[in-house]
This record gives sequence, C-alpha cells and structure tokens, in this order.
Amino acid sequence: MKDFLDELDQEIDAFESFAWDDIVDQHILMNEWLDWTTQNIEKIEKEISKNSSRNKNQKQARPDNEIRWKFISKFPETKFYLPSLREGYTRFIPIWWNNETGSKNMWMAQYWDDIVLIDCGIQFPDSDMLWVNYSVPDVSFLSKYKKNIKGFIITHGHLDHIWSLKHVYPAVWCPPLYGTRFTLWLVRKQLEEAWLLPHATLIEVDAWSKEKLKIWQFSAEFFKVNHSVPDCAWVYLESPSGTRFVHTWDFKIDFTPAIDTPADLDRIAEIGSRWISLLMSDSTWSTRKWFSMSEKNVWEELEKIVSNHHKGRLIIATFSSWISRVQQLIDIAEKYDKTIFLSGKSMVENVAIAKELGYLNIKPGIVKKMTPKNTEWIAPHKQIIITTWSQWEQFSALARMSEWKHNAVEIIRWDTVVFSSSVVPGNEKSVVWIINKLIKLWANVITKDDWEVHTWGHAFQEEQKIMINLVKPKYFMPVFWDLYFRTAHKNTAMNIGMKEDNVLMLENGNIVDFAPNNWNVFKSKIKVPIAEIIIDGHGMWLATSHVIKAREKMMNSGVLVIMYKVDKKTKAVLWHIKLESRWLVYLEEVRFIHRLIIKKAREIYENTVKDVPDMEEKDLIKIIKDDLEKFLLQKIDREPMIIPMVIEV
Ligand SMILES: [Zn+2]
Repeated sequence: MKDFLDELDQEIDAFESFAWDDIVDQHILMNEWLDWTTQNIEKIEKEISKNSSRNKNQKQARPDNEIRWKFISKFPETKFYLPSLREGYTRFIPIWWNNETGSKNMWMAQYWDDIVLIDCGIQFPDSDMLWVNYSVPDVSFLSKYKKNIKGFIITHGHLDHIWSLKHVYPAVWCPPLYGTRFTLWLVRKQLEEAWLLPHATLIEVDAWSKEKLKIWQFSAEFFKVNHSVPDCAWVYLESPSGTRFVHTWDFKIDFTPAIDTPADLDRIAEIGSRWISLLMSDSTWSTRKWFSMSEKNVWEELEKIVSNHHKGRLIIATFSSWISRVQQLIDIAEKYDKTIFLSGKSMVENVAIAKELGYLNIKPGIVKKMTPKNTEWIAPHKQIIITTWSQWEQFSALARMSEWKHNAVEIIRWDTVVFSSSVVPGNEKSVVWIINKLIKLWANVITKDDWEVHTWGHAFQEEQKIMINLVKPKYFMPVFWDLYFRTAHKNTAMNIGMKEDNVLMLENGNIVDFAPNNWNVFKSKIKVPIAEIIIDGHGMWLATSHVIKAREKMMNSGVLVIMYKVDKKTKAVLWHIKLESRWLVYLEEVRFIHRLIIKKAREIYENTVKDVPDMEEKDLIKIIKDDLEKFLLQKIDREPMIIPMVIEV
C-alpha cells in the first residue's frame, strides 16, 4: 500500500516545477534585498517594474488576467484623498479590524510618500448577509496611492489575515509581499489559484532573525510569538523620525507549545527598551482571567483518550491550519500503534505543505491516504481520522460524514468524535446542530466541555499583562473584536499603570499621525470612508447593494407578482388580473388573500388611470407598488417584495 504523503509529494513537485521559475525569478532573498536597498533605491523600483512587465508576458499568466482582476478586484471608485502628512510625521490607519466579531485585519503605516500595508484577511458573513461568501477590506481609497505602496507584510497564515489578498493585491499593484516561510506558502497557494502568482514578489523573512528589513524608508523586524498556526511573526515597524509601532497580532505565550518554540520574551523585552510609540495587541480573550492553557495539556488529554479507546473509530475534528495538533496526534498514533487518515481538502493540503517545509515530522506508514479501500484493511479501533472542522461551512468533511455523504467514512455506532476545536461566539448553534446528528447515529461525542481537548491560540489577561509590561509602549491600542473585548483589554492595561489618555480606542478608517520623536499623537477629524465590500459567487459588491437588500426582503417576506393586461388606447384592464406569490401566504388562506389583493390591485390601477390617463408606466408601477405595500401591511401585516407588470395590448 502506497503511503499517501509520498503521492502528495509528487503532486507538490509538479506544482513546484510549474511555478518555481516564476518564484525564483522574483523571490528576492532578504539579504540581496538589503544589499540593493543600501546601494540604490531607484534601482529596486526599476527592477520591480521590469519584473512585473516581463511577467505579464509569461505564458503562465492567463491572457484574460486583466478581465479577471477587474472581476475579483473591482473596488468602488471614491473621491476621497488622504489629508496631507506633515513633515516628519508618521501615519497610522486601521483599515479593518475593529467593530466586529471576527475581523478582516488590515492596517497601514505611512511616512512621507511611502505606505506599508499589513495583513489582508476576510470576514465570514453573518447569518443575515444572504448568499454572501465573505467580505473583504475596502481599499478603494488606496487606488490613488498605488505607486506609494512599497510593501505588504503578512504576519501569519490564518484566513482572517491572508485570504483577501487575491482581491486586494492586484488593486494595489502587487507590491512585494513579506512573510515567513509557512505563511508565504499559503499566500502562494492562494495567488496561484487566482492566477496572480506570476505577478507577485514574495520575500521570505525569518521570525528568529534579528535583521532589520528595509522597506523603503521604513525598517521592519519580525519576531516570534505563539499562536495556532506555524511560523507566526510579530511586526516591529520603525519610521526614520523615530515612530515605532509594535503589533502582536494574534498571540499567546506558551512555555510548552507543541511543535513550536516558546515566545521569544528576551527579544520582546529588548524591543521594549527602544521607546515604543504604539503597541497594538490582541483583545480576543481579554475577558478571560489567568493564563491560557498550554498545548502540552491538550496533548496529555488526547493521549488519554487514544490510549483508552478500544472500540470503533476515533474521528478528531480540528482546524486544518492547526498543524501542531496534527503533530500531536501523529506522535500519539505512533506510540499506540494506530494509523492516521486525513480527511478534507484543506487538511490534506496544509499537512502536505507543513511536511514539505519541515514543520511536521511524520514517520513512514503512520499517515495513509483515506480511501474506502485503505480503511477497510485496518481494524476500526486502530484508525484515527483527522478531519477539518469549519464552523462556517456546513459542508465540512465532518458534516458529510454525519450525513453519510463522505466518500470513505460513514459515522456509525461505537465511533467516537472528538471536537478538538473551539466555537466562535455566535456559532454555537451550528455546532449543536452537528452534535445532534452524531448522537442520532449513536456515536460518542467528546467536546471541550468533557475533556481539555482544545486550547485557544489567543492570550488571556496575564499574558496580555506580560506583553504590555515588556513592550512598555507610550500609547496602547487594544485591537480585534467587539468594543466589549477591547474595553476589557483597556482596563487590563490601566490596571497595570497605563494612563487612560494613552489608550487609543480607534475605529476603522481613523487617521492618526505621530509627531517626530514619539511625543504627541494627532487624531484627524477626517475619517477614511470604509465600506462593507462583499464577495459572492458573481464578484465583488457593496453590502448596501440593492441586490442584497432585495434578497433580504424576499427571504423575510416573500414575493408578489401582479400582472395587468390593459388596452393600449383606453387603458382599461382586459380580462382578469393575474397574480403569483411565493413564500407569502399559507395554503389555507391563499384564496382569501389573493382575492383581496386582486380587488385592491384593480382599484388602485383604475383610480390612478382615471385621474391621470397618460401617466408614464414607471410612475404608474411605483404608485401600484407603494399603495399595495401599505394595504398589505395594514391588512395582513406582511411586507413582500411586490413586482407589478402592465402589458398593453
Ligand atoms: Zn490567527
């Protein structure tokens, strides 16, 4: 039986040979980049423009790229101009991360004409955002400043930090992308799928390196924190006039992580000794006291479950980017002589990338490709199936297994399903929905409430305090999530001595300028207009679009179509008025209500035409629509979408 990862290796090789020439051409290594910058900045600019114009002619770049970019990257036009930046000042703008649960994570820094962007995530839709796939940060205002955007830093590989790149990256003219090795691989996969890779410049950085990276006038440094995906990097960004930003992004401090090394506290303290202007820090779990649990505890709990499992299969649902959890399970499987099967496209892809880059250590024969034939040969209690669990996708592999729609696994009696994952607030219902299904199939279910099978990737209060104490910033800004969580983080900061005036509670689009040498900060009265940009299967749209509003109305109240056939000359209604309704009336009441509507519709039409016989059709339709809306609201307390049609014969 062939090891599935060997097969996957071949797939990766094929992918690499396809894209490798482009990557090598454009993949300017960090040291070379540093040399260039010290030599001549103009030279670099020429090199980048030469690369991108040459790459446009390469055969891998699809001929319809221009059209494609317009389609996936069509931000609305805006007349907004950024206020001018005073000499020596450094600007900071949160483009999108606050004010909502699960943020899109993007901000920018500006010094003179140079702009650096940091992260570029998506947000999954709320339940009332009908038929929307996700929303992306609004970068419309940057269209006038494309030539000023000198770099794009990506901190880690989570979807809410990278997944808008395919929309935003072409809109800002594909500046060089900086990130760690694992992060850039995920970015590369996304850009390749969107046919953008030949136009990208990817610059790999090392979170352990102490080197300063020059991004035009800014200098950047990266360093190590713990989180829930490999190779996360903090960002330190310094402008020539002494403004120093530190962003923790998503972080926790774990002294016994799984495959990672503990957060580099020495380095954080060293950075903290440089007079930091602003610390932006993760507020996700700022309401939770003490320390978050270590990955080591999860390991011990999972080991207990595996060692005591003797009947049925063990199916473990976790996030596909949580590579350390996969490593824990592989190690446990080896110890207890079990075989791992991976399920779900993103799980298989991420594990393959992590293995390829050396983040996963897998002994031959432990992990097998999941096919009905392969699983048949191994006793159920010897199988551990690791599957993707996404709370936003009802069609995740686990959901398919529970509905017997999975090609290799049907969950049956004695199987045990472990939710080694967390629930984002607001998504509890979808988790209970799937647990109900599993219970009906007589499966055992283990969640975080039963065993410590999951820990968070975000700091609790004591870790947040350590961070603030080590960085010792002049200004502090709690970021991510609702005001509730950010206010709790603010209180934590004030409890350890931060002055209230020095805590910045900013909103998306606020413009904040830091004076040279760290002393004063000015918040502009002008705000960047940031719209809600949504992506659905057909492209990029404004959330306020009439299409979305119409969907909402139809979904909530149904549709009513009324058709009048009228005489062209006399305008008299010929024959009966026809009516169709959907999701508006119940079977028992349909005759009564339809009759009521037809009577009223005739009355409105005839009265209107009698008063103004030569009224334009669009005005006539508006009157019918408005009057009928009022009538239905008053009579049956419903507000359907009404579509009147007048056909002259
Ligand atoms: Zn994250």
